[in-house]
Amino acid sequence: MADRPRFGPAGVPPTFKMMNTPLKEVPILLHEEGLDAFEYEAVYWGGKPQMQKEHAEEFGQKAKENDVWLSLHGSYFINFCGEKKVVEASKRRLISCATAAEWMNAYVVVFHPGFYGRKLRGQAYETCVETLKEVVKTMKNLGIKNTKIGPETMGKPSQLGSLDEVVGICEEVEQTQLVIDWSHLHAREFGRFRTVDDFREVVERIEARLGTEATKNMHCHFTKIEFTDKGERKHHTLSEGRYGPDFEMLAQIIAEFKLRPIIISESPLLDIDAIKMRDTLRKLL
Ligand SMILES: [Zn+2]
Repeated sequence: MADRPRFGPAGVPPTFKMMNTPLKEVPILLHEEGLDAFEYEAVYWGGKPQMQKEHAEEFGQKAKENDVWLSLHGSYFINFCGEKKVVEASKRRLISCATAAEWMNAYVVVFHPGFYGRKLRGQAYETCVETLKEVVKTMKNLGIKNTKIGPETMGKPSQLGSLDEVVGICEEVEQTQLVIDWSHLHAREFGRFRTVDDFREVVERIEARLGTEATKNMHCHFTKIEFTDKGERKHHTLSEGRYGPDFEMLAQIIAEFKLRPIIISESPLLDIDAIKMRDTLRKLL
């Protein structure tokens, strides 16, 4: 579990890309920026890892040497609430992402659970939980034991991934890691976070169900977000004042509850806004 709050970008920052930085050098540059986390984006992967084992291991080694904690964002092509064929393919995709996550020593593979579709919410949730139990069983058989699966709170009311559903999955399925995308919750609930108390309420609800340790160690995504009546629409940078949520409020709660989350910046500015959030929290601690 993380030793302190850590910050990093979701994927390789634009400036690193402009310099054609090879993946194994990304942790070095992050370390130079004073960042200490990184989420590898495996978001377009299919049923097989799109990376060689030795490259993943080398990358993991470089991250370790530079004190950068790794997580991996799993495939977008996952739906654990759909038709049987879709669910089976989703299982293979999540397992392929978990395999590579284990190679690079990423502590969690984050994933989007699925869409309710025509199913009733409760029914979709049950299908999802039962399938995830099977996924974890397969992971154990494959020797994947360090990487956890992390269901994420989702930004649209049509997606499975309310706070209660994600917490429920973490209660019912072994080898899970809580992933709170604060921006998604904000969009899904049409501007939920207006005051520090709104953030406190979420943390208290999590603590009541999952306990203090799981709460302290939550994995977070954060950015400013625009939404419509269908939920999430677009990510914005932290300096765009007319969008929420406000990181400073979350930072107050992190300090108050002595949380040590991994906070991944999903702002279009990635590392630059990760640094901004780090500095905001630092001022409070
Ligand atoms: Zn996500």
